[in-house]
Amino acid sequence: MEVSFLGAAKEVGRSAILLEGRKRILMDCGIKIVGQGEEYPLLEDRQIRSLDMAVISHAHLDHSCYTPALFARGYKGKAWMTKPTRDLVQLLLSDYLRIEKATHAYTEKDLGQMLKNVQVMEYERPQQNVTLFDSGHILGSAMTLVEDSGHRILYTADLNTRETRLLDGAKMGLQADTLIIESTYGSKADQHLSSKEIYASLVREVKETLDHHGFVIIPTFAIGRGQEILFTLENFLRSKLLPPTPVYIEGMIKKSLKIYRHNAIYLKDEVKRRILTSDDDPFKSTFYNIPSRKDRSDVFENDAAIIVTTSGMLNGGPVLFYLKKLGGDANSKVILVGYQSEGTRGRELLEGAKELDIDGEKVEIKMKVAQAKFSAHSDHKELTEFVKSIKGLKRVFIQHGEASKCEEFAEELGRKMKHVEVIAPNLGETIKI
Ligand SMILES: [Zn+2]
Ligand SMILES: [Zn+2]
Repeated sequence: MEVSFLGAAKEVGRSAILLEGRKRILMDCGIKIVGQGEEYPLLEDRQIRSLDMAVISHAHLDHSCYTPALFARGYKGKAWMTKPTRDLVQLLLSDYLRIEKATHAYTEKDLGQMLKNVQVMEYERPQQNVTLFDSGHILGSAMTLVEDSGHRILYTADLNTRETRLLDGAKMGLQADTLIIESTYGSKADQHLSSKEIYASLVREVKETLDHHGFVIIPTFAIGRGQEILFTLENFLRSKLLPPTPVYIEGMIKKSLKIYRHNAIYLKDEVKRRILTSDDDPFKSTFYNIPSRKDRSDVFENDAAIIVTTSGMLNGGPVLFYLKKLGGDANSKVILVGYQSEGTRGRELLEGAKELDIDGEKVEIKMKVAQAKFSAHSDHKELTEFVKSIKGLKRVFIQHGEASKCEEFAEELGRKMKHVEVIAPNLGETIKI
């Protein structure tokens, strides 16, 4: 049996792992966005044509976005994924194709071809020799277990072992001889705050601004974190820890919220119970609003408001409109809730920029800038606990992390688990097991 790391090896982006045993199975097929350009998995046409299955862990672009290109390049099989992943992929990839770019990896027609060939899988219901398990990362996200040639290979993809507002944590204690695990926060220095502390920091920052009759902008990814933020706000508004304030939902967050609601069976029991047995469906909170006028003037008729909007790193989306409008207002605040990578406006704000360049316009920043660190990935300690929970483990491959994180996590695990072989593979490397 051979395992090839065709992407996301000592990097984050273009996840793609090829298993070649009795069957040829591709696990994930994403893209990596680099500045204005894109990088793709190192897949050759002959490999694509000989694939038996392509299994997609979840809808984020770094795991799913290149899948339609498989069909464009001669793949004749199915795209296997959970139903929520199918729904979210449809939304995200259509949006990806709408963004103006010189070239995309494929066309609308190829996306249609892929959607026609989706084979929906449920958690813990084996099909062929593949079983999916909840990975706790976003709605419908899955770990993939492949049984082939006497091996049990478990691929975590993006992993969150912690319970969140909407989702249960990842399934622990599975049986596998080979584990392929992510390491986004694999460094020992990566220690998340407790959920309680994270929620408290968000509420503190929001409340301070509302008390001063300011507007709060929360830029976030549309899928996963956007819903966590909304549910956290709703919870604190309902329990009156925050004064009654309208929450405006912008961009793709409102569309993906609908998909979350449609797939409520994938949410944790507490949320399901609220939807089914009480009158306060958290998805239909009276605090939620959609701007009703094209120029969004209705938002500013309020004394104060909270705006939850894309994009998370301020690269584009409605957040730019709000920054232009509120950037100069010292009473207002932007709260960054996710990682801000180098070269983004979000990072500039964190580094204290007093001016932002938006659509060729210099926008003065007087508004406050704060941070509340939400995460949909496990930290170092949680990743280690997950590995230790696996039964019958012989080897671990570390991927989906910056090179330094992959290497540090591999070294650390190797030290702690002497009986297990730990490797951080290089991009394009094939390893026989
Ligand atoms: Zn993800
Ligand atoms: Zn990822």
